[in-house]
Amino acid sequence: KLYNEVQDLKGNIRVYCRVRPFLSGQSQKHTSVEFIGDDGELIISNPHKQGKESRKLFKFNKVFGQAASQEEVFLDTRPLIRSVLDGFNVCIFAYGQTGSGKTYTMSGPSLSSKSDWGVNYRALHDLFHISQSRKSSIDYEIGVQMVEIYNEQVRDLLSSNGPQKRLGIWNTTQPNGLAVPDASMHSVNSMKDVLELMNIGLMNRATSATALNERSSRSHSVLSIHVRGTEVKTNTLLRGCLHLVDLAGSERVDRSEATGDRLKEAQHINKSLSALGDVIFALAQKSPHVPYRNSKLTQLLQSSLGGQAKTLMFVQLNPDVASYSETISTLKFAERVS
Ligand code: ADP
Ligand code: MG
Repeated sequence: KLYNEVQDLKGNIRVYCRVRPFLSGQSQKHTSVEFIGDDGELIISNPHKQGKESRKLFKFNKVFGQAASQEEVFLDTRPLIRSVLDGFNVCIFAYGQTGSGKTYTMSGPSLSSKSDWGVNYRALHDLFHISQSRKSSIDYEIGVQMVEIYNEQVRDLLSSNGPQKRLGIWNTTQPNGLAVPDASMHSVNSMKDVLELMNIGLMNRATSATALNERSSRSHSVLSIHVRGTEVKTNTLLRGCLHLVDLAGSERVDRSEATGDRLKEAQHINKSLSALGDVIFALAQKSPHVPYRNSKLTQLLQSSLGGQAKTLMFVQLNPDVASYSETISTLKFAERVS
């Protein structure tokens, strides 16, 4: 029953690296990315050193260079996404410093042009397409939720009461026995439904961005796609969930400069990103104890991290030498979890 592609996936944790292009106006010369290999090799060079010592090699399941299109990136993600229709739980993250292309990879730069669509929209489009083609044997229902986690507080971005609703309760058990975040669930049947909802989500997020100064880079946003399939012949129920996570910027905030709210934000981000790293590390090590309870993010994603669930992390890099030390710290995080 499973897609062959899915059976080909080795292990439950994969790490892809994506290097974003230089933006117009940036000098192409000052890059810290020296080499990208077809088999997942990446060589980073230190601008302050010379010779052999300046280079460091990293290995990933795959590295996408500056020229990689949204389509190419999606094609390597699709098997994982399709496995949701077979009842798997999947988590896909974008990790990296602010400006490294996390939102570009997950959502895309704009919704108006299909070729710009990121993983989120392509995933939903593909899930609709495949569920339609299986219609005679499996009857699928697709529901979406979207929440933001800011300072360890969760807010429903699709709530009809506006974005201010704060969620206190976790993993409310639904009548069908499925644990889902306590946020409004919206049934979707077409890309039109999805785009309408996402516009509400983006608007709800933007409202707080002006109020709280670039908040979107200081918060995690989680789009959850819940799939329920009923096998027509046997009436057997199939459930799968796909979490698509645009993480808060991983850059370190200078302790001597940050004060008040900014320091608090930074501490929350640090704490939740390291909690995520600890969970994935424990899973990769097959450790008997997985510390899910250390952050709201890992609590929310618990049922989709570990067990039969599949995890993909996009490690996003800004190629500019000016970002060298953040690039290295991003790569260290990735090394630990892969
Ligand atoms: P982040 O979400 O990590 O802060 P963004 O996704 O907002 O970063 O990307 C920062 C800038 O770089 C944006 O202007 C975005 O459009 C551009 N960008 C990022 N990745 C790519 C890419 N692969 N191709 C073209 N432009 C990109
Ligand atoms: Mg972003």
